[in-house]
Amino acid sequence: LVRLRTRLSRSQNALGKGLLTLLSREHLDEDTWEEIEDTLLTADVGVQPTQELVDRLRERVKVLGTRTPDELRALLREELLQLLVPEFDRSVNTEALEGPGIVMVVGVNGTGKTTTTGKLARVLVADGKNVVLGAADTFRAAAADQLQTWGERVGARTVRGPEGGDPASIAFDSVKEGIEEGADVVLIDTAGRLHTKTGLMDELGKVKRVVEKHAPLDEILLVLDATTGQNGLVQARVFAEVVDITGIVLTKLDGTAKGGIVIAVQRELGVPVKLIGLGEGPDDLAPFEAEAFVDALIG
Ligand code: GDP
Repeated sequence: LVRLRTRLSRSQNALGKGLLTLLSREHLDEDTWEEIEDTLLTADVGVQPTQELVDRLRERVKVLGTRTPDELRALLREELLQLLVPEFDRSVNTEALEGPGIVMVVGVNGTGKTTTTGKLARVLVADGKNVVLGAADTFRAAAADQLQTWGERVGARTVRGPEGGDPASIAFDSVKEGIEEGADVVLIDTAGRLHTKTGLMDELGKVKRVVEKHAPLDEILLVLDATTGQNGLVQARVFAEVVDITGIVLTKLDGTAKGGIVIAVQRELGVPVKLIGLGEGPDDLAPFEAEAFVDALIG
């Protein structure tokens, strides 16, 4: 939790501490409620959840009357937690009924897709799993090298094709290899060319169809850069129209004061945030836990 707090310190200052300070004012006048609203919107909590939270806080603060700092903290904790949908199942499904679990990682280039795939491989290998990586991001020239480097570092074999090759055929080969080698998990890194929705749909749709000729996909993780705000939400919507996202990975939460995006994106897609990226290092991928997240935010 200490580490989470450190990494989320920008959001903690802007969101958690900001709200607590405002709520501690002796007179909660309209201007203050507006400031509370602005604080939430600036942290990318989203319009609808912000409205809901402000309404709830107004009501509860009225009931409470005088407010001790501890009471305020407890109240804010409860309400933020509620918005984070604590009942979501956030486990990354890498278990298949038969053969390896197959996880496809999608997202726009630059969001941290390849890094996330590498970090996830590291977690799985540390857990005793035999992992095959599929370098199906053939759009970015260095992506396959980057993934292979991760693979070598963590002890996972990388299946790759020629530069500019067909992503679907690499995805196919990686699943085939995973099955033949009796691997536990195949992680497929895909390209996130968002030039047109049809282009993306064609490419990702094809990768998905081809993989599913071998075996069903167990997890489709969408990687989103937490620093991109509304833009990230637009991307999320487009991807969700193309494939059935089963989980969200929010990267770069360490570098942003806009941690409220967790709330907005879950609301947008109706899908849980399962993992969060807290830095560039190999250990900087963490399971998302709603309670720990709120605790880190409100300090
Ligand atoms: P891709 O194009 O989506 O595959 O993106 P990359 O995996 O190459 O990542 C793009 C950049 O973001 C790299 O410099 C990564 O080190 C960096 N990055 C990825 N995840 C995180 C994160 O959680 N925090 C920070 N600070 N940087 C990250």
